[in-house]
Amino acid sequence: ISVSDLVNESYDRINQVEGKVKAFLTLDEENARATAKALDEQLVKSDTRGLLFGLPIGYKDNIVTEGVTTTCASQFLRNFNPVYDATVVERLKEAQVVSIGKMNMDEFAMGGSNENSSFYDCYNPWNLDHVPGGSSGGSAAAVAAGEVYFSLGSDTGGSIRQPASYCGIVGLKPTHGLVSRFGLVAFASSLDQIGPMTKNVEDSAYLLQAIAGHDPKDSTSAEVDVPDYLSALTGDIRGLRIAVPKEYFGEGIDPQVREAVLSALKVMERLGAVVEEVSLPHSEYAVAAYYVVSSSEASSNLARFDGVRYGVRAENPDNLLDLYRKSRSEGFGSEVKRRIMLGTYALSSGYYDAYYLKAQQVRTLIKQDFENVFEKYDVIVGPTVPTTAFKVGSQLDDPLTMYLNDILTVPVNLAGVPAISIPCGFADGLPIGLQIIGKAFDESTVLRAAHAFE
Ligand code: GLN
Repeated sequence: ISVSDLVNESYDRINQVEGKVKAFLTLDEENARATAKALDEQLVKSDTRGLLFGLPIGYKDNIVTEGVTTTCASQFLRNFNPVYDATVVERLKEAQVVSIGKMNMDEFAMGGSNENSSFYDCYNPWNLDHVPGGSSGGSAAAVAAGEVYFSLGSDTGGSIRQPASYCGIVGLKPTHGLVSRFGLVAFASSLDQIGPMTKNVEDSAYLLQAIAGHDPKDSTSAEVDVPDYLSALTGDIRGLRIAVPKEYFGEGIDPQVREAVLSALKVMERLGAVVEEVSLPHSEYAVAAYYVVSSSEASSNLARFDGVRYGVRAENPDNLLDLYRKSRSEGFGSEVKRRIMLGTYALSSGYYDAYYLKAQQVRTLIKQDFENVFEKYDVIVGPTVPTTAFKVGSQLDDPLTMYLNDILTVPVNLAGVPAISIPCGFADGLPIGLQIIGKAFDESTVLRAAHAFE
């Protein structure tokens, strides 16, 4: 089959289901068809092909794409047309993927249900009454619904893994610094990481292979050698030491989720892994620390949206200050404003020690919890999220409940380590995700364990 066939198939499927799923913010059909045609012509001339030749991809809309609107699902950026590609997009162009469009998300990646998109909600393909998760909800839903072959998301506190879990796909958050953040619109720079959202673990390894590796344009990008992730997929996990944190099975974990994860662990044990219970004692402080750290960084990162440099400028301001104020009041949605206010408060001189500094200290303790466990174990395994996807609208007026969904994903970002979510069962027709957490830069072991279980 030709690349044009693949791209046709993608848009056919989009025509069938997109009216209900709403995973896309922008469809890039003309470019996609032209790229497909060029790739097909190239194939006639020579059979050298890129790593991901011709595969249809979707990019989360906070990843900048040259000449294609990049909105972050915000009214502020509804007309923002970047003049360059993010490094990941550049690398995937080299790998010869075809971009199908830009994916729906929570505004500026703040949220866990896609209900903070300022354009429209996205829905879970398994049950349209439920959320797809977030903030990379569109990226997850489109893969689950078969609209794209795979996609990229970003994960600051779970935004790849949680929607992957809710939509029954594979989502990988790489080690902080493994994948370039150049061209990812920053939410919380010390936590943000781009990663693959795919139907299976093998594709995740392929996609990671294409995007990982040092980038001089990102000063926090690590100078490490990128291993061959594909060769890690041996199917062999004999002797793998798996730690199961008791804190990840406590109060608030849905019994069906607990059961599914425990039986997944049984399977891994049968495959030869050694499974033991451990403790990550500071887990209960992770959500609080995360929301202080991430909101503080967000308040600083989002200061650049002043109505002058990017996006939409408010009309008829009285003076310069009023221009800033009006543009920001009109451009940002309420969750984004909540985070900015939280962040500026936590960073303000009178409160800095009590909140920001304290949160950073807790972050160090959480990181040490992981380091202690990784002295003896290869991976940490637990649920990705305490429950399956909730009903659209059911948590909207309760931000704190919404934040608590992140309890099992945010520690990973605070520690900077990699983690994957893979499907491990269903409860009432909705997918359950298994989370496998690894040592820094040891994506190979994470992928190997995930692949063996899958
Ligand atoms: N749900 C979390 C939040 O709202 C995670 C977001 C993310 O990873 N981008 O901050």
